[in-house]
Amino acid sequence: MIFTNVKRVVIKIGSALLIERGASTIRSNWMRAICENVATLKKNRLDVVIVSSGAIGIGRDVLSLTSTNLKLEEKQAAAAAGQIRLAHAWQESLAAHKISVAQILLTPSDTEERRKHLNARNTIESLLELNAVPIINENDTVATEEIRFGDNDRLAARVSQMIGADLLILLSDIDGLYSADPKKFSDASFIPEVFELTEKIFAMAGEASPGNSSGGMVTKLAAAEIAMRAGCQVIIADGRAEHSLFKIGKENRFTRFLPIDTPSNARKRWIAASVSHAGAIFIDSGAEHALKSGSSLLPAGVISIKGNFDRGDTVTICDESGHRLGCGISAYSAKDTSLILGQKSCEIENLLGYRGRDEIIHRDNLVLDEKNF
Ligand code: GLU
Repeated sequence: MIFTNVKRVVIKIGSALLIERGASTIRSNWMRAICENVATLKKNRLDVVIVSSGAIGIGRDVLSLTSTNLKLEEKQAAAAAGQIRLAHAWQESLAAHKISVAQILLTPSDTEERRKHLNARNTIESLLELNAVPIINENDTVATEEIRFGDNDRLAARVSQMIGADLLILLSDIDGLYSADPKKFSDASFIPEVFELTEKIFAMAGEASPGNSSGGMVTKLAAAEIAMRAGCQVIIADGRAEHSLFKIGKENRFTRFLPIDTPSNARKRWIAASVSHAGAIFIDSGAEHALKSGSSLLPAGVISIKGNFDRGDTVTICDESGHRLGCGISAYSAKDTSLILGQKSCEIENLLGYRGRDEIIHRDNLVLDEKNF
């Protein structure tokens, strides 16, 4: 069962699955079926995020744009018109299971620039905590040719990386990776498992398929590379049939790309590798002890700070006498940290006027130096 031990799954749904061929309308029975599957996953306490394509395909019909080769401005207009319908369709179909949905539109900079990345991540985390299903698409209306993902495969991989998902499913009109394009070469062999993305594997990818999709195997492999490095397992599977999510591994075969590391280790390595630290936080011996036993850093254990760091910056963590213990991402700016240091977390709201995180550095965002163990 592909969902065994999975806590957080990102499901990417391509336009070819969602849209009726030649009609630019949503395949409502198909959508109802996948929403039933999503509801089952939610009942089993999985966090589910959907990356849904289809805005341009639907909008094209709404605005009567008949050309098969739309200009960028036309695609953006189509996306603006289609996204409303797309989000509405998800909302209606999941409401039948009493699941709330929330729309998030992202550009590459939102996933790559640290502060925006952090904000987007926090919003998705909050939505998941509130048991909602985020429906994500590229913000096509503001993206320009140079700064757009252009395909939702890589967007879905970035999202998986951002929220530490342990499984990314790329639902497509093909059941996995073949040694060559199976539409052109009848002797192409199916690849069930990929441990490493070698040049040979990349050479197997065919061209993007025609029609509404912008992806193809090339972008799926690029997506798999991003996700695997972030510790996320990737599955490419055929999503055309109704209830296809639960057919994967039963009636339907699929290609699985194995993660290189766990999401949490990948994240910690990323933190440890950040070269410039914007400041330092000095902690008392009680907090030092707590961190060494795996806890988060609370304001109560902070004695003083140095530097002018912002929320989301990596800071050095030092003991009372200034020896470096490790580093981590601060959930508060230097200014706000100086106002709450030494205080109990329940005082944060009184002191700052807003309710932030209980921890200054959450344990997932904290790495102690090797010698401190
Ligand atoms: N963002 C595009 C849309 O919603 C889809 C990109 C893709 O097909 O991967 O229409």
